[in-house]
This record gives sequence, C-alpha cells and structure tokens, in this order.
Amino acid sequence: MKAMVSPTPTSLLQPDAAAELVLSFVNTRPNKLQPEQFDHLQALQQWLVQHQLIGSSDQITETDLEEAKHLRSALVVLLLSHLNDAEMEASELQQATESLQRLTRNHPLVTLISSGDVQLVPHNQGGRAALGRILAAITELVLSGRWNRMKACRNDTCQTAFYDRTRNGAGTFCSQNPCGAMMAMRAYRKRKQEMQQDPGS
Ligand SMILES: [Zn+2]
Repeated sequence: MKAMVSPTPTSLLQPDAAAELVLSFVNTRPNKLQPEQFDHLQALQQWLVQHQLIGSSDQITETDLEEAKHLRSALVVLLLSHLNDAEMEASELQQATESLQRLTRNHPLVTLISSGDVQLVPHNQGGRAALGRILAAITELVLSGRWNRMKACRNDTCQTAFYDRTRNGAGTFCSQNPCGAMMAMRAYRKRKQEMQQDPGS
C-alpha cells in the first residue's frame, strides 16, 4: 500500500533565507569531500562576518569556536533524523538534543514585538550574538513548516545538509555526486522491484 501524503504547499518546496543560512553553517563541517572550514578562529570570524551574523569589528573567542562546532555536530544529527529511513540510535539523538539545549541556554533569544511584527533576536551582544542568530533562524524554520525538510545526506561519508525539495518530502541524498547518482540508482531499483511485484501497473 502506498502511504497517502497530504500535498505540500508549493512555497514550502523552496528553501528560504533561514534555511540557506543553517545549511551553509552545517556544511562547513569536514567530510570526505572537503576539509574543516572552521579550522581556526579567524576562519569562523570571516564566515560570520560574510553571513552578516556579526559586524566586522565584533570579536569572537575560542569558546565561540568550540560552541559553533558543537552546534554544527548536534544539528547534523537532527537533520539526519529527518530522513524518512533514518537509522539512528535513540541515545545519539538524545545526546544531540541535550547538547543543543545547553547551547540555547547559553545563547538566549528575546522577542521584539512591534505593532505589525515580531522578531527573535539574540540576548547576547557582539561576537556572542552569532550563534543566537543561527538559533533564531532554526526557530523560524520550525514556525514556517520547513524544519522537517532540512536534512543531511544519507551517504555516511558525505552527510551534506540539504533542503528536501521533493513534493512528497522523501528526499534522502544530496544532489552532489556521487550521492546524486546513488539516489538515481536507488530509485531505479525500487521502480524495478515494484514492477516485478506488480507487473500489471
Ligand atoms: Zn551527499
């Protein structure tokens, strides 16, 4: 039996600015395709300025670097858990969630309410505000219904974060090679298997 999937509004098939920010943050991780992008403090500083998370005169510390890496590691586990066929130890997810909760306590957000809008902004100032801005983007993703479309590639040596643009929300691999090719092969095998099981369709 095929599962019934309620139609996803077309707007949710596209990543928004919050999604792009969180994806590029997670994709600074080292994997088989690239080295660590935050290999020293200066590299993180530059990345944060480029992405307008801090001002060019804001200073960051080794603690910020350590916390940024912890946040990234926790996020990739959560994004992997969004895969439909996620194979994950409950303890791994629990650990990532706890790590994220520790970080959210260190980087609290405040709501700025005006007559027509509400904004989530970091309570911390200067360089310490950077991770809060990423946490605010994640909150926006949850509220806009995009969070579950934020995934990490099923290929263990890749784990690139990507936005699932598929209509049924069943995306599993990122589009880079060799993962894109693996995805096509998997879909082909599945179709073949289904045709053998049900030759009439
Ligand atoms: Zn991949």
